[in-house]
Amino acid sequence: MRGKLMSNGELIGLTELLKDACEKRYAMGAFNFCNAETAQAVVEAASALRSPVIMMIGPMEIPLLGVRAAVDVAKSAAREAGVPVCLHLDHAYEYELVAECVEAGFPSVMIDASRMTFEDNIRLTTRVVEIARAKGVDVEAELGAVGRVDDSVVEGGNATSLTSPAEAAEFCERTGVDALAVAIGNAHGVYTRRPELDFDRLQAIRDATSAPLVLHGGSGTPLEQLRRAIEIGVSKVNVASELSRAYLTAVEKAVANGNGKTWYAQALIEAKAAFAAVVADWMNKLGSAGRFLGS
Ligand SMILES: [Zn+2]
Repeated sequence: MRGKLMSNGELIGLTELLKDACEKRYAMGAFNFCNAETAQAVVEAASALRSPVIMMIGPMEIPLLGVRAAVDVAKSAAREAGVPVCLHLDHAYEYELVAECVEAGFPSVMIDASRMTFEDNIRLTTRVVEIARAKGVDVEAELGAVGRVDDSVVEGGNATSLTSPAEAAEFCERTGVDALAVAIGNAHGVYTRRPELDFDRLQAIRDATSAPLVLHGGSGTPLEQLRRAIEIGVSKVNVASELSRAYLTAVEKAVANGNGKTWYAQALIEAKAAFAAVVADWMNKLGSAGRFLGS
């Protein structure tokens, strides 16, 4: 059904969500969670704003929760959501983690072989697409390396790490991925100076391939640059660092205000609310708020 999102309380993959976002020129926020309450915070913000949502967990968070518990927590949050919820594996660098997550019930995964050579990236991504397809799981891959803001090689855009439009076309054609993360001057972490996204490059990538495009390192990106990226064709924006910062700041504040008597659950209740507020802010900024009109 074209452009009609559905919600039946089950976890879904990326494809339907990104298709709707592409058609209607908004972007899906994708938010990292690490435990039950951050998962609830993501989904509760989505419910309140009638926004479809992508919740993600990756190698930085999985050691806390575990793969099976991540699926259980996401399923339980989605059941209450009343909006479409995607569970996505963020930045798996190894085949084994992807295989474990596909087996455990993730409907969507990312394989990040962007630090490898072009041919090795294609080889590993293709292997992942094969096991994913067998289970109806969607796959995001990355071409050109999105580094960290404290990685001086990447910040501001080093030409050797940015995505080549010609390679993007060949990569998507040969691997058949469902979404492609691009490096256009974006970086992970909290920006230490204003990022300058390379919109000519983004447009050339958009012209070269029809795969949905993903912008990693959303945290701290100026609003007008986000809007322009969405206008050109970015339909998924990853947000993690702002969430981490909001959560920790709320815990620190609760501890400081309690003069040594803060009850731990109270600190985490405040942290959960701060986390949800950041998610809601991003849903408004990216235009996904109010997009789910169904039931
Ligand atoms: Zn990322």
